[in-house]
Amino acid sequence: MRLILLGPPGGGKGTIAKKLQKEFNIPVISTGVILREEIERKTRLGKKVQDIMSKGRLVPDEVIIEIARERIKREDCKKGYIFDGFPRNIKQAESLEKLNEELDEYIDYVFYFEIPFTKVIERLANRRVCKKCNTNYNLLFNAPQKDNICDICGGELYQRDDDKEETIKNRLKVFTKQTLLLKKYYQEKNLLTVIDANCSRNALFLEIKKILGGLQK
Ligand code: AMP
Repeated sequence: MRLILLGPPGGGKGTIAKKLQKEFNIPVISTGVILREEIERKTRLGKKVQDIMSKGRLVPDEVIIEIARERIKREDCKKGYIFDGFPRNIKQAESLEKLNEELDEYIDYVFYFEIPFTKVIERLANRRVCKKCNTNYNLLFNAPQKDNICDICGGELYQRDDDKEETIKNRLKVFTKQTLLLKKYYQEKNLLTVIDANCSRNALFLEIKKILGGLQK
């Protein structure tokens, strides 16, 4: 089963992706997480993308497409995968399609997370992420049991650089200008399911799970 989770930052894609990973035993491929790990490890790629990411702009397509290409060819993706944060524009979507053709595989579902920007801004400003296992928390409705400590692995929580107010605005502009076009793109390919993401993570997960019910492979 191959899925794409599409939607504005802060819409809940990361959290739902992790729940789906557990439920269906297929890996999450989050280009944002991969890039942040490169930054953390201070690799050449990390140094190249750090400034771009801190400003909320998109990392060049060639870089991202290469990351996706390498990742989906790995053994653990044979049964499927969940893309979170990729593709983010038409060029990336077209490259993914070519890549899928090369590998003789196809995307089963694209879920579009519909949520008002006012909600997204509130959620992002209150988001905290575990440094170790990348679990997301929200100080408003999903706070950790102990301040700044991950419930799952005990790792330290932090606020992402790009979750600061100025950068959030820029990310939403980029989303509206580039990523939103993918809604129509996948609609025309009959792959799109729009879901109301302005609800609890649990309700959202159950809805997606219900839709995927007959699709386990
Ligand atoms: P995310 O964790 O998905 O919110 O991504 C954080 C940041 O990583 C984005 O604001 C971009 O700077 C970069 N990034 C992640 N995925 C992509 C992508 N598919 N294309 C371009 N840039 C990306």
